[in-house]
Amino acid sequence: MNFCLVGAGFSCAVIGRELAGAGHRVTIIDVRDHVAGNCHTERDTETNVMTHVYGPHIFHTDDQEVWEYVNRFTTFKSYVNRVKTTSMGQVFSLPINLHTINQFFGKTMRPDEARAFIEQQADTSIEDPQTFEEQAMRFVGKELYEAFFKGYTQKQWGCHPSELPASILKRLPVRFNYNDNYFFHRFQGMPEHGYTKLVEGILDHPNITVKLSTRFERSMLDEYDHVFFSGPLDGFFDYELGRLGYRTLDFERFTYQGDYQGCAVMNYGEEEVPYTRITEHKHFSPWEEHDGSVCYREYSRECGEEDIPYYPIRLVKEKALLADYVEKARQTDKVTFVGRLGTYRYLDMDVTIREALDTARGFLKCVEEKKPAPAFFVEA
Ligand SMILES: Cc1cc2nc3c(=O)[nH]c(=O)nc-3n(C[C@H](O)[C@H](O)[C@H](O)COP(=O)(O)OP(=O)(O)OC[C@H]3O[C@@H](n4cnc5c(N)ncnc54)[C@H](O)[C@@H]3O)c2cc1C
Repeated sequence: MNFCLVGAGFSCAVIGRELAGAGHRVTIIDVRDHVAGNCHTERDTETNVMTHVYGPHIFHTDDQEVWEYVNRFTTFKSYVNRVKTTSMGQVFSLPINLHTINQFFGKTMRPDEARAFIEQQADTSIEDPQTFEEQAMRFVGKELYEAFFKGYTQKQWGCHPSELPASILKRLPVRFNYNDNYFFHRFQGMPEHGYTKLVEGILDHPNITVKLSTRFERSMLDEYDHVFFSGPLDGFFDYELGRLGYRTLDFERFTYQGDYQGCAVMNYGEEEVPYTRITEHKHFSPWEEHDGSVCYREYSRECGEEDIPYYPIRLVKEKALLADYVEKARQTDKVTFVGRLGTYRYLDMDVTIREALDTARGFLKCVEEKKPAPAFFVEA
């Protein structure tokens, strides 16, 4: 059969590869002039540093099959994500750990002492936290909340933490040991030659044709037996019910001779500093040597019509509109919506690949059983 996959990010690359492997003809189109979607990496022309063009990406997963899948197409170098934050004139280690607590309060506590101390700091008068602010105050108390969560969250989401749901901060965001590895997952690494090379490897199959700088139009539907759409769900319907809310990012590039900040990601917790973080890309490739350095200051703001949608907002208003679009999608034949934009969810790369593999398998089963494929294999 003849399929069109819209978007050359991980979602459609993986689905396309699975369908091509099953003997179908696959055309992948992307409006951008490169593959890999938001995970795109390229060498900075001035410094030759491998740069994460749409923001820093670290691969981490507990999913063995996904880890083996990505390792089929490129070499992964071991990489441990260690994040720092600048707040109140000092540099602290994130996520908040024993080092952060001892440094912040000027103490030398052992794990149990720190646990008891943080319990004293916590605002226990809040019995059933409803908002992000209440949740953070309940977990860590006012001082840590104000230094590490309040300003950053306000900048990231453009609203006060008291307007965000408690669910954003699910569990106690504190470690009572010196483990500063940002992620807990078993597998963590960085593709040696960047994410774009990895996606190119996935797409390298005789049954796959890639068309870049090409925008999908609904009039193309008739040319294919089925379409997978990883672009914005509301965009597919020309925003006819309104726009789903997103945050977008602006990156301010600058170069430096030497080592600018000594780590890949430095957050800025204070509201007075307009950017949320600075990424120094050469630290993502510690096996390479570069005298020059390229850094991105990252600013978060409301996504306008011409901007790149990054983070879905998914508050009450957006969820209501999402439900209407989901209904429209269900009434549309021959299209399956996938990925972070097609299902309006924040997805890490490993989850994206897991869902793509499951979607491809579910779809091939529909083909085999001669049943129509659903609009969503994963709930939006
Ligand atoms: C700032 C940031 C940092 C992140 N960091 C991490 C991280 O450290 N670790 C991690 O695991 N994940 C991270 N992620 C998540 C990661 O980016 C996603 O998991 C991944 O990009 C999802 O892939 P996708 O294919 O669904 O979407 P995308 O990569 O967005 O691909 C969608 C593609 O569709 C194309 N498209 C859209 N509409 C059309 C159209 N009408 N016609 C043609 N083409 C179209 C777009 O140009 C785009 O290339 C991060 C995300 C962000 C925003």
